[in-house]
Parts: sequence; C-alpha cells; structure tokens
Amino acid sequence: MRAQPQASHYIGGTFQESQSGTPFDSLYPATGEVIAQIKAADDAIINAAIQAAKEGQKTWAATPPAERGRVLRKAAEILREKNHELSVLETLDTGKPLQETLVADAASGADCLEYYGGLAATLAGEHIDLGGSFAFTKREPLGICFGIGAWNYPIQIACWKAAPALVCGNAMIFKPSEVTPLSALKLAEALSEAGLPDGVFNVIQGFGDVGAKMVAHPDISKVSLTGSVPTGAKVAALAGEHLKKTTLELGGKSPLIVFDDADIENAISAAINANFYSTGQICSNGTRVFVHSAIKEQFVSRLAERTSSAVLGDPLDETTNIGPLISKQQLDKVLFYMQVGQDEGARLVCGGSSAEVESFPDGYFVQPTVFADVTDDMRIAREEIFGPVLSVLDFDDEENVIARANDTAFGLAAGVFTRDIQRAHRVINQLQAGTCWINTYNLTPVEMPFGGYKKSGIGRENGHAAIEYYSQIKSVYVEMGGVEAAF
Ligand code: NAD
Repeated sequence: MRAQPQASHYIGGTFQESQSGTPFDSLYPATGEVIAQIKAADDAIINAAIQAAKEGQKTWAATPPAERGRVLRKAAEILREKNHELSVLETLDTGKPLQETLVADAASGADCLEYYGGLAATLAGEHIDLGGSFAFTKREPLGICFGIGAWNYPIQIACWKAAPALVCGNAMIFKPSEVTPLSALKLAEALSEAGLPDGVFNVIQGFGDVGAKMVAHPDISKVSLTGSVPTGAKVAALAGEHLKKTTLELGGKSPLIVFDDADIENAISAAINANFYSTGQICSNGTRVFVHSAIKEQFVSRLAERTSSAVLGDPLDETTNIGPLISKQQLDKVLFYMQVGQDEGARLVCGGSSAEVESFPDGYFVQPTVFADVTDDMRIAREEIFGPVLSVLDFDDEENVIARANDTAFGLAAGVFTRDIQRAHRVINQLQAGTCWINTYNLTPVEMPFGGYKKSGIGRENGHAAIEYYSQIKSVYVEMGGVEAAF
C-alpha cells in the first residue's frame, strides 16, 4: 500500500495501534485503490490519548508563550520543507489535483502555524484601573481540546484547529475524517520534530461514534468540528448536554452577486474558483451565482467556454485542473443533483454527468456543470451539493437580490462583484454571512477570521478571533487598601 502509516494513531509522541477498533480503508479516489488500512480507536486508545494529553498539557501550559510560538514556527518550516511529499499524500487521500495541493493544503497549514507562532508572544490580558486598587485579566488555556475534521482539506483543517489551540497552551486530540485519515499523522510527526512535548498533539482515528465518545468525555473541555450541518447539530446537542465549549464550521449555499458594471472576466474567474476548485468540495463555495440580467447571456456563454477548457484527469499530473470527487457516495450524490436540476427545469449549459477519464475507469469523476435560469425554489439552489455544480440565477434589482441571497438557512460566505465601491459596501453590509469578498471569492488567508452566520456555524477560526475560542479569561481584583465589612 502506497501510503500506509506506521500505525493508525499518534499518541504521546509515538504511533500506536488499536487492538479492537473497526478497520477501514483509505482509498485513492482516482482509482479506488486502497492506499492505507486503518483501525478506529477503541476505548484503550481513547484512554491513552486522554492520559497523554493531560500530561502533555501540564508541561505545555507552563511553557512560556514565546517558546510555544517558536515550536509552531519550526513546525511550519518542516511542513514547507516536506510540502511536495505532503501534497502527494493529500492528493492520494483526497483525489484533489497536485496543482492545488501543492499550494493550498500543507502550505496553508504552514501559514497557519507560522501566524499563531508569531502571535504567541503577544498573548496578554489587560490592566483595569479601579482607582487605587486594580484588576487584571489573563488568558488561560481551556485544557484538552478535541478537533474533528472533514475530508476536503484534511491537513489544513488540522492546522486551523491545532495552531490556535496549542498557542494558547491547550493540548489537542484530533480525529480526522475517516475518509482522509493520513495527513494529520504527518502533522503530528512534524510537531514532535519541531520540539512539541509529547502528548500535546495527538491523533486518533475513527467514525462518528469515536467522535461522539470524545465529545462526551469528561476530560475534554472544548470541541471544534468542521463538518456538515446535520453533524454540527448532533455535536452541538451532545456538547451542550455536557456543557462543553464548541466551535462549529459547517456547510453553506453561499451567494455570489455579479452586477452589470462588474469586470466580467474577473467575475467569471471568481465563479470558477467558487464552484470548481477542489472539484466543488468547499464549504464556502458561491454556488448561487446571481448575475444581472443585462450581462447574463454574455456571462453564461463565456463561463461555459472557460469551463469546457478545464483539464480533468490524473490528479498527480500537475497540469490537471480537476480531479475526482472524494468517494462513490459523493459521486452518487452529485449525479443525483445534476439530474434534479434538469428535472426541475433549469437550463443545462455544460456538464451534467459523470466524466470518462482515460486510464482512470474507476475514478469518481464528474463534469464541471453549469445550470442557468435557476430559480430560488429549486433544490439545486437551496441544498448544499458539495460538488462542481454552479447555478446561475438572474436579477435586476439590488434590494431584491440581497433579500434572495439571504433567503437561506445557511450563512457561511458571500461575494459581490461591482466597480461601484459604495454599492459593494452597501450590499456586503446587508448580506447575512460570516465571510465576505468584494471583487474576488474564496480567498481565506489565515489572518482573516473565518466562520458562519446562521446554521453555518458557531465561533470563528483564524485571525485573532480564534484566540477567543481557545482560551478563557481570568479576572483578578487586587485590593490595595483595607477591606470594609458591614459588621
Ligand atoms: P461530516 O459532517 O459527515 O463529518 C465531519 C466529521 O464529523 C468526520 O470526522 C466525522 O467522522 C465526524 N462525525 C460524524 N458524526 C459525528 C458525531 N455524531 N459526533 C462526532 N463526530 C462526528 O462532514 P464531511 O462529509 O466530512 O465534510 C463535508 C461537510 O463539511 C460539508 O457540509 C462542508 O460544507 C463542511 N465543511 C465545512 C467547512 C467550514 O470551515 N465551514 C470546511 C470544510 C467542510
């Protein structure tokens, strides 16, 4: 097997194998080939991870923040040195083309480690003058945080959770998606190599049941999930029952609004990035593309022309733009929605079915698909598909398009294209979404907080904002005079 790790789990600085956990395979989505065999965590592994994290966290919390920062920055360097190897692994595990994984996965994880490594020495509380007496606040860690990953950006998600958690002095136990179990183990090795004390970052494998056990575990202080809205609801309910702090990064059905004064080529580039990057498997995708009716036909025909030039194929070939979907299950789901769109009366502009790719007869490939004349009530405009299916909806009026863009239970992201700076801000100010773009789409630098409104999530990752979600504030009142009492 091409990518078999030493063992399934990484606990207390070493690889460990479970005796009785459910076995599962990791597949290369381009061929269906088994690249690794993994065993889910059993109770012994869960207990070992908790024990290691408890011990590691004590040492780590006592380490000066500046030193914690040095370790994270060193880990960032290691990820960068190993970027090619890690990118190939991520391509094998996810099917995403190497063209993308080389720049967007371990590389963005390294940016995240470096960013929080840089913030480390600046973590501080405040001094509050009470007139003679005073109070101060300090930021303390939460304890052991549990991270749960989705399969679309495995190492990036692990870094987005680990870096802010660790810089605040927490330990983390991370469970990757069972679909993409491999790269989090590489992150754990890189952190150890960078000098992270044993037990501060641990990886355990498994399905939702392992996740749920950990969420309910009394020694876990905080849970951070990246996943779908239904999983988010389950995790939030269980975490609520046990009064755990929670960050949820969930799904979306985000709008991208293109006004008639927009730079059309740029807007089309953004629509392509917002729908076809990572074969459409991105939570923040702008899958509802509202285009002003004055430019709609021009937009649609040029979009179709550019979409048809996309190179589908061997993910390990750096000239490939679009790889397979992650799994057979995802393939079936996306093909189902392609059919639903046609049945509902949307105009199929291009794509609409699976794709035959030479030498990859068993890959989960689909054609990048554009539907036009989509209306707000169609399922393809309301439900998260998580595949390369772009819907173009027409509009004429600014107020009306804002209302339509907001008419969804989701609120992860939104974008607007216009050359009118006042309109751009006026529209963005009214969009109910946690992450917005003006004249671009889907750029998520680590400096910028990321997260959702409404059902798309709770809390924020990245930026200074994430520090709030991985630390707690202790307020200390210091009396400089005497103590008055009533009697
Ligand atoms: P998923 O919800 O099926 O699984 C996510 C993770 O949750 C997996 O690790 C899974 O094992 C675990 N899990 C499942 N049930 C659980 C339970 N009851 N308790 C604890 N853990 C449980 O999501 P997925 O299919 O892996 O990923 C796709 C979804 O993730 C999409 O909806 C996408 O929009 C969303 N996503 C969101 C973001 C974001 O940052 N907002 C990023 C990437 C993906």
